[in-house]
Amino acid sequence: MNRQLLWDCHMHSSFSSDSSTPMENMIQRSIELGLKGITFTEHLDPDYPATPDGLDFSLDIPAYREKLQKLQDTYRDQIQVRFGIELGLQMHLSDYFYSLLAETPFDFIIGSSHLVHGYDPYYPEFFEGRKEFYCYMEYFESILENISVYDGFDVYGHIDYVVRYGPEKNRQYSYGRYKDILDEILKRLIFMGKGIELNTGGYHYGLGEPNPCVAVIRRYRELGGEIITIGADAHTPDKVAYAFDRAACVLEDCGFLYYTVFKNRHPEFISL
Ligand SMILES: [Zn+2]
Ligand SMILES: [Zn+2]
Repeated sequence: MNRQLLWDCHMHSSFSSDSSTPMENMIQRSIELGLKGITFTEHLDPDYPATPDGLDFSLDIPAYREKLQKLQDTYRDQIQVRFGIELGLQMHLSDYFYSLLAETPFDFIIGSSHLVHGYDPYYPEFFEGRKEFYCYMEYFESILENISVYDGFDVYGHIDYVVRYGPEKNRQYSYGRYKDILDEILKRLIFMGKGIELNTGGYHYGLGEPNPCVAVIRRYRELGGEIITIGADAHTPDKVAYAFDRAACVLEDCGFLYYTVFKNRHPEFISL
């Protein structure tokens, strides 16, 4: 792996219902890889529709916090472990999230779209009987809706996540095809002082690109965006810091001199 990217700021453990990996295993793997720090970003997706596999994206925040604090202490001489969360944003949840997060001192908050108007694009029903283009547009529109009512996050997660699941994946997808709406999202995020993430999950989904794709990351930079976190979205130890060598090249290629990690909700800029 590239030694330049030493922070993985998007990962899950068994506190997220789609992972069964104990936190300790994620930490130990991160130490083996020589990472300087990691941020756990467990899922919280209230009002998630029933899934065929019975997933429940609630989160026991007090238990999560207690466990994380213990592990921060245990591993303090080897690695920094930070306390984050990945919120599944939906418009009607904004008041709930504001009050919930006012009570909990997270280091880092990712706001993500996992649902589009109540549907999860992970399941094929979302695309059934509709052109893929309109499904992707609806996903991007839902991002604009979410950020029009909620600003309690630090970065917007995996902005083009929907293309992982489309019938054609990213074969018909490009920044240029969705330029207007993607520009609107990026400009709004920059105006709000928010960042984006480079999520290397796209590489292990076989897209050959991170999420969002390189052209969107480049455009964010061109528009003046400076806050970018790096995360592999690992749910198992083998995916920690996945394709970080490629991520470092992408950042450099897009004109970034720094990447960002968050502590107590404040950005720290680390030289590439
Ligand atoms: Zn996510
Ligand atoms: Zn995630």
